[in-house]
Formats: sequence, C-alpha cells, structure tokens
Amino acid sequence: MARRESAAAGPGSRALIVDLIRSSGPISRVELVKVTGLTQPTISNIVRRLIDDGVVRETGDTVATRGKPRTLLVINSRAAYGVGIHVGADALTCVVTDTRGGTVGRQLVAAPAQGGPASVVAALAALYDEVTDGLGLPPQSVAGMAVVGPGPVDVARGGFLAPPGLPEWAGLDLVQALTARLGVPVLVDSDAAAAVVGEFWGRQVSRERTFGCLYMNSGIGSGVVLDGALHRGASSNTGKIGHVAVVHDGEPCHCGSRGCLEQYAAPRVLVARARAAGSLADRLRIRPEDPDARAFDVLARAAVYGDQEARALLEESAALLAEGAVTLANLWDLDTLVLAGPGFAVAGSIYVSEIRRRLAERAFTRDVHGVRVDLSSNPRDAAAIGGAALVLQGSVAPGHGPQVAARA
Ligand SMILES: [Zn+2]
Repeated sequence: MARRESAAAGPGSRALIVDLIRSSGPISRVELVKVTGLTQPTISNIVRRLIDDGVVRETGDTVATRGKPRTLLVINSRAAYGVGIHVGADALTCVVTDTRGGTVGRQLVAAPAQGGPASVVAALAALYDEVTDGLGLPPQSVAGMAVVGPGPVDVARGGFLAPPGLPEWAGLDLVQALTARLGVPVLVDSDAAAAVVGEFWGRQVSRERTFGCLYMNSGIGSGVVLDGALHRGASSNTGKIGHVAVVHDGEPCHCGSRGCLEQYAAPRVLVARARAAGSLADRLRIRPEDPDARAFDVLARAAVYGDQEARALLEESAALLAEGAVTLANLWDLDTLVLAGPGFAVAGSIYVSEIRRRLAERAFTRDVHGVRVDLSSNPRDAAAIGGAALVLQGSVAPGHGPQVAARA
C-alpha cells in the first residue's frame, strides 16, 4: 500500500484513476476508494473533473448494494482520437484509434522513395489529412499524432537517426515540421516502444502487470511497461534485444557489434538464406527483386503449410527468439510477453509455441510464476496502433504516460 499512497499524494493520482477505470472498468467510485486507498472526497473530485473533461462517463448502469446504488464508470471511447503512423521500409501505415484503443480507421500507402525530406513531411501530412478527413474527425478531437519506426530514435529532437533503407529520414526534425504543418501535437518514438504501449492500452492490462512486448519487423526489439508507464531508459532506446550477442565475435552487425541476435533470426536474414539455398526460393517463387518483407511472408506461409525446408528456417529463428524471450523475462521478471510486428503476422503460431515452451522450461521465475505469452491480435499494425496509444496515454492520463509536445 505504501507505493499507492505515495502515488496518490502526487500529481499521478488522476493518471492512476484513469488507468484503473481503463483496465478494470466498469468500476464504481466505491471500488476506486477501496483499490487506491484514497479518500472518498478525493475520488469524487477526480472523477468529477474527468467527467467534466469528457474522459470518463457514467454507464447508466448501477450495482445494487445494501446502501446507495453504485454508478459505474468507464472511459469515454470518444473522448479523443489518436493517430499513429508506422514507417516501414516501403510503406506507411496510418491507424486512428478511439480513446479505448479500438481501431476506427486505417490506411496504407507506399513510402516516398525519393524527393528528400520535404517529400517525407508532405507524405506524412497528406496521409494524416486523408485519414482524419475521411473519418470526419474535427481537429480538436485529435489528441495528436505519433510517427513510429525502427530506432535509434532521437525523441528529444523529434526524429529518427538512421532508419535502415530510409536515408531520407535521417536527421529530419519530423516533430517540428509536422507540428507546424498539422497544428496537433506530434511525437516520434520507436516501433517497439509504441507496440508495447498499444498492447498494454488496448488489452486493458492492469498497471500492476510487468508487461513486455517482443517486436519483430526488419529488426528485433522489445518494450516494457512498468507501473503503467513505458520504461524509456535515458533516451527512449531501450530493449534492443536484437542487438544482444548470441554468438561470441560472430557476424558483424550494422549497430557496430558482432554476433547480434538479429544477424541470425530476423526475417531479412531468413530470406537471404532462402535465396542462397536457391531451390527453396525457386520453389516458393521468391524473386530477387521482391522486397524482403514480402518474401518473408511467402516463406512464413510455406512454413505454416508444412514446407519442411521453410519450416526448418523458421524454427531455427523461433529457437533464437525464444532465447531472447528468456533473457527479457529474466531481466524484467515479466508477467506477460506479447509478440507483435509484421514478422509475426503469418507464422506467429510457430514463434508463440516455441517461446512458451522455452519460458516454461528455462525462465528463472518458472517455479514462482509462469510467463504468459500471447500473439498480438493485429501484429502487422501493432506499432501504428501503439503510436495512437502513446498520444492518447499522454493526453488523457498525463503524469505517468509519455509526454506529447506542446500544441503549436
Ligand atoms: Zn547489432
């Protein structure tokens, strides 16, 4: 209880109440008093302000008790909308979610291949306008936009350092350019950080969980939510499990190290091996000009449908990712690990079963508690959905969530 009381005394109490209503709603004021240890007048005041602000609403249902009937509270799903754009190697995915994390709109467009930074900003702004106009969302209903992609990110400056395959993006101050252009708060973060917040928010996970996400796209990353907030580290570049060495002095990696997990288990590496094998790529009709992400989907589908050679490649990758999952669980003492990202979209089941098995056998905490392993319900869009969750958390539950830049 000591931790809750100190949280209650600080500015985080509003965020705490929002988070409890989000994760356990519908819930009554009396239950909030019981769970938080805050006084009844304090809860009443905070709830009244949240209702006035439109963040929380009464359901109209009551719970019959011996005393006064208790009114139930839920998050108002229309309080605000979040926009997330995921920057992939060849596509931009834009998702709009309501306050509770439900997807209300989605659009996928090709990423600008040339034209310099101005074309990047123009493409992102045009996508934002098209999606929000198409949904008829007035600007004041949008909490903000997050642009998420592969790290490293420079959150303070508002851009990406060097997204693989996207030289136009490096050094571009996206936050400043887009805030000025769109007039809504804009933030930039890594795809894995966004994905873990999105899964946490949308699954109504309690803040008491130590909740992790293993994210696989072109690279492999992870994120952790502790006490309801994303663990950011010094610069929001945490969880680089793909750059943990699995082979001493092994293959050189673009990060500057050697023997990184990514160099043996990432989709592009499996595709390269399938291409090198020749016969497998020929049999699956993977052409040299096919982008790696598309070729990996073909390979993963073949593995799921029983192609032995494809299956062996995927199983090798799953075994290495399972080592990564054990490392994550052991570092963080995780309750739950969700697998998200386009890399899990087709053959997620192969990865989930291997990771479950390995954690049950080898996690340090296995005799104390199990680690629940789930596949994201939407692995491909998880980072974009998470971007929307990042802005919503910063907007409706400020104080413990990531902060969004001030409105221009
Ligand atoms: Zn590396």
